[in-house]
Amino acid sequence: MNNMSRTVPFFDYPSVYSQDEEAYQRILSDVGRRGAFIMQSDLREFEEQLAKFTGAKYAVGVANATDGLQMGMMAGGLEAGFEAIFCSHTMVATASAIHFAGGVPVPVDAGADHLIDVAAIEAAITDKTRAIVPTQLNGRVADMDAIIDIADRHGLEIYEDAAQALGARYKDKMGGTFGVANCISFYPAKVLGCFGDGGAVLTNDDTVYKNLMLLRDHGRSDSTGEIEMWGFNSRLDNLQAAILSHNLNGYQRIIDRRRHIAAAYDRALSDISEMQLPPPPADDGDHFDIFQNYEIEAQDRDALQAHLREHGIGTLVQWGGSPVHLFRALGFDQSLPATEALFDRLLMLPMNMALSDDDVEYVCDTVASFYEGKNSA
Ligand SMILES: *Cc1c(COP(=O)(O)O)cnc(C)c1O
Repeated sequence: MNNMSRTVPFFDYPSVYSQDEEAYQRILSDVGRRGAFIMQSDLREFEEQLAKFTGAKYAVGVANATDGLQMGMMAGGLEAGFEAIFCSHTMVATASAIHFAGGVPVPVDAGADHLIDVAAIEAAITDKTRAIVPTQLNGRVADMDAIIDIADRHGLEIYEDAAQALGARYKDKMGGTFGVANCISFYPAKVLGCFGDGGAVLTNDDTVYKNLMLLRDHGRSDSTGEIEMWGFNSRLDNLQAAILSHNLNGYQRIIDRRRHIAAAYDRALSDISEMQLPPPPADDGDHFDIFQNYEIEAQDRDALQAHLREHGIGTLVQWGGSPVHLFRALGFDQSLPATEALFDRLLMLPMNMALSDDDVEYVCDTVASFYEGKNSA
């Protein structure tokens, strides 16, 4: 028992830079002195490196994952008015991407693993449904065999929101490589983060790739400069790409560390009956999780969160505590009681590269002391 009190922030933004400051300064000088700011060799090299890492045929750098998901659906040729089924336990970005691609986002429940409930997908299919948009949440890939089976039987396409899942696998296939076009986010708090906004779209389809390259750069052909379609300005900055290349080189170490922390949480907390933990790395089975987040379910969640805060430990309830279908201003009128009940119990413990083993032990001791105190009271 480590009784020393300490401060463990939920996420430590300055450490994103300071953990490898010299390398980042070198990259900034190198890119800056070359004046290589927009769509230069660093971007092309990062895209190749990312495609190779994931096994996707193509990776296209874009300004952020939200744009990427929207442009991915547009590049895939979905016709306006399509319905797309997504899990309400996701960022509002999943739904807004569908909306701005001309679709109607249809939220469904989360299942026991907090990802899209496969049974709920089938129940939500109508004659307007064209796509399933599973969010590969918390660094875990959904049960893709079942989702692909539903998609095949109903003639639907899959577009993955893999913003949280770079490097996560299902049956040895990477998140972001199952659908027609799939987004990855490089927001600083993501496992592969940059120093601002950034994202990528992964695709195996030649036509989708060609469309994406046009869509992200004003509809302009990169070979002729001709305008070939309506497009956006949604490019990944060349400087961010150079930083991401560097970070992707060290990615295995990052995944290993996060899985190590998840295993430590599991060892220390799995006996607490008031909590439910994500599957530990050792029980992966068909999944290989990268633990973008360590999201637990906890009895008396708000009191636990307050107890941790009093002891200097930052936690977060994902998405500000609300599933997407409860954003009534966006026109949703669904009721998803299972997901709403889940949201009363969700909490994320610190999971990041700035955590020391002592920090993790302190978090575990402090969580345990909360339930011990309750049980003896
Ligand atoms: C972070 C995130 C996004 C948005 O990514 P941006 O790069 O910030 O646009 C979308 N969906 C999920 C599940 C996310 O976690």
